[in-house]
Amino acid sequence: MSVHCTVAKQALTNAGFLEVKSPLFGEALGSEYRRVLAPPWSITAWLDTGDALDHVDIHLQLGEQSVGNIHRVTTDAAVADLPAIVATLSALAGTDTLKCPKRKVRWIATKLPKPRDGWQPFLSCTGMRVGRSREGKRIACDGTSTALQPIVTH
Ligand SMILES: [Zn+2]
Repeated sequence: MSVHCTVAKQALTNAGFLEVKSPLFGEALGSEYRRVLAPPWSITAWLDTGDALDHVDIHLQLGEQSVGNIHRVTTDAAVADLPAIVATLSALAGTDTLKCPKRKVRWIATKLPKPRDGWQPFLSCTGMRVGRSREGKRIACDGTSTALQPIVTH
């Protein structure tokens, strides 16, 4: 199964996505498409380089931070789901479903394992990263959420 890059790009353009030219990555790594919602929310789709892509991941974005679950498009036929994915993510943006259930302050985002990690993707608080304080490194919040399926495959 694969998604053809041209098919994905056409569907993204039709759905109101614009390509983001990032000086950080360059075109060698792939391309990023974004559809702006009510600021600061947007929807991001990432396309790896190549003609036949293994999948295209689509998720919400708050500023430059990925938030919520991932919708993974895996076939050319499933590209037709894009308008429905956009509708689902637009309705989710800014809602309590995306808040960390532990403190209801930060948001939840999908944590993806590397191939050999041996754990499944899950949704965790965006505070679950090591921060710095006077006492040294600390984890801001260790909340997790089961409110959404971490990866929805199309
Ligand atoms: Zn939290």
